[in-house]
Amino acid sequence: MSRLNDATSAIPTFAVITSYNSRLGSKQLMFGKNPIRPPVAGDDGQLLQIVEIFPTLQGEGPFTGHPAVFVRLGGCNLACGFCDTEFEEFSPMRVGDVVTQVADLSREHHERVRRLVVLTGGEPMRQNIVPLCEQLLAHGFTVQIETNGTLWRAVPEGVHIVCSPKASQGVYHSLRSDVLSRVDALKFIISDTQDAYREVGEVGQHGRDIAVYVQPMDEYDAAKNAANLARAAMLAQRDGYLLSLQTHKIMGIP
Ligand code: SF4
Repeated sequence: MSRLNDATSAIPTFAVITSYNSRLGSKQLMFGKNPIRPPVAGDDGQLLQIVEIFPTLQGEGPFTGHPAVFVRLGGCNLACGFCDTEFEEFSPMRVGDVVTQVADLSREHHERVRRLVVLTGGEPMRQNIVPLCEQLLAHGFTVQIETNGTLWRAVPEGVHIVCSPKASQGVYHSLRSDVLSRVDALKFIISDTQDAYREVGEVGQHGRDIAVYVQPMDEYDAAKNAANLARAAMLAQRDGYLLSLQTHKIMGIP
């Protein structure tokens, strides 16, 4: 058995994903069944469609392991078949109330720990999150956005942007140039069997100083997940990418 296989078989991915799944309970995960929702028009950013706000650890990408408060915004402009998130049960919430709730939830963090807020979805750039970002930065938070890179809002310079490019019908969606010029990291989802996700795609990162992560797709199938993990690890070693695992699933936390 190769070193690579030794390493990947040592990670108890499937048992922990089972416990993660049972924690999700009755949530209706999207798996591509969500309505396509365009950007919110005429949005002044004062009233946001919010699914949930919760404290956790950032599980993946460059901020892995950081205590964080997640703000999940409703709706997405894409519908990916592997999407294991619920983002259609949202309610309107005033931006000031979002900031207050984030501040309350992060109060227990030790003062030496980075006060990180992750804006995720769905696709958070559907909505005008500029006022939210400005207020969070003014309160001293580090702000990170998770986006698919097809939409853009002119968020303040201090905001960190992690983009996970997505494909439809075998082809990656183009990333907007304003996203590419601001993005901190690209996170490619890797599947051993889905053609569009077998390799890291070229989405405009060539020649730019952008960190590139590879992360195995969770296909809710033990054999497929093992192959996805092995392929992501192989790509990281062969081509020099950074490996990202969904450690919140390994830990069984939100
Ligand atoms: S872009 Fe992200 S949130 Fe939207 S459907 Fe795809 S995986 Fe889900």
